[in-house]
Amino acid sequence: MYQEFISFTREAFKTNEFIPLHAPVFTGNEKKYLNECIDSTFVSSVGKFVDQFEDEVAKFTGAKYAIATSNGTAALHTGLLMAGVSQNDEVITQPLTFIATTNAISYIGAKPIFVDVDKETLGLSAEKLEHFLMKNAEVQNGVCINKITKRAIKAVVPMHTFGLPLKIDDIVSVCDRFNIAVVEDAAESLGSYYKGKHTGTYGLLGAFSFNGNKTITTGGGGMLVTNDEGIAIKAKHITTTAKISHPWDYKHDMIGYNYRLPNINAALGCAQMEKLPFILEKKQKMANKYKMFFKDTPLQYIDVSKDAVSNYWLNAILLENIKERNFFLKITNENGVMTRPIWKLMTSLPMFKTSQTGNLENSKWFEERVVNLPSSVVI
Ligand SMILES: *Cc1c(COP(=O)(O)O)cnc(C)c1O
Repeated sequence: MYQEFISFTREAFKTNEFIPLHAPVFTGNEKKYLNECIDSTFVSSVGKFVDQFEDEVAKFTGAKYAIATSNGTAALHTGLLMAGVSQNDEVITQPLTFIATTNAISYIGAKPIFVDVDKETLGLSAEKLEHFLMKNAEVQNGVCINKITKRAIKAVVPMHTFGLPLKIDDIVSVCDRFNIAVVEDAAESLGSYYKGKHTGTYGLLGAFSFNGNKTITTGGGGMLVTNDEGIAIKAKHITTTAKISHPWDYKHDMIGYNYRLPNINAALGCAQMEKLPFILEKKQKMANKYKMFFKDTPLQYIDVSKDAVSNYWLNAILLENIKERNFFLKITNENGVMTRPIWKLMTSLPMFKTSQTGNLENSKWFEERVVNLPSSVVI
């Protein structure tokens, strides 16, 4: 069976060479815009491509405002600050996520709390979140307080795993009841929709990543989106060293960050945005091929849930148990087909071992079984 899988991927990706997990494709105006950017000499934090890239991402996602950042982690960090998170506050997220989600929380000196994922979506479970808050929290003077630690729970960060949208409307309604801001980690889900609305636009803010392995790339880069004008202005300010606009003076009114996306990266982003519909169509086709292949096997393809449209950033399957998973990883990687296990639970890392958690049965189950498959666009 595993040999059949290897032959299938060789055919699907049309190569006998090494097959990576996710390689970018540059078949549009990338070189043209990069040359234009270099010729203009505006390669750094100011330039027309940054503004254009922001406009295009806002238009594509349907968000009112978009603020480009140097990477997705910076977007998350800024998003949490905009949501009012400060030192010693608490932020709830899922244990099954990329380390960047939890790092962004920690940069502020806030404490992560881990609540389980949904068996259907691999994203934060609204039921489990509600259960956790009912049991452990209460709203006092408009602030959600953790009854055990007495700290304020200021934000929830749900993450759309591999581009598969989670039930974000349910998360938002639970958070509304407890007066908690939602900052969506949509780093993996550009081109993914839930109930017809783009992921990242349900929460107070959403964060995207344009790292080299994501659906589209700027080399390194990120984007915050929001519908709140005040937040958008503040986010732009804090990500550009909090400099007050003046013809010559250097005046800064708070501690800011050098988080602005360079114009040269945005040039790449503008070209990639033009190709996004093409990329999404190709990814959908590859996902369909995988679905057909796995239909007649004991392995289960992890498909998008109802009410959702996935960008199929990374295809994933479920192995029967950890032993089978390890065997599958060994055979495929030894044969030049790159596959990877899902992340280790955040709670298993030394930094987060003592963090407060809910019951994590689904996360633990997925941790032992999920494997990502090669998902690049084939030209
Ligand atoms: C990629 C990613 C990020 C961070 O993005 P960078 O651009 O690499 O900083 C954050 N969260 C998740 C879930 C990601 O996959």
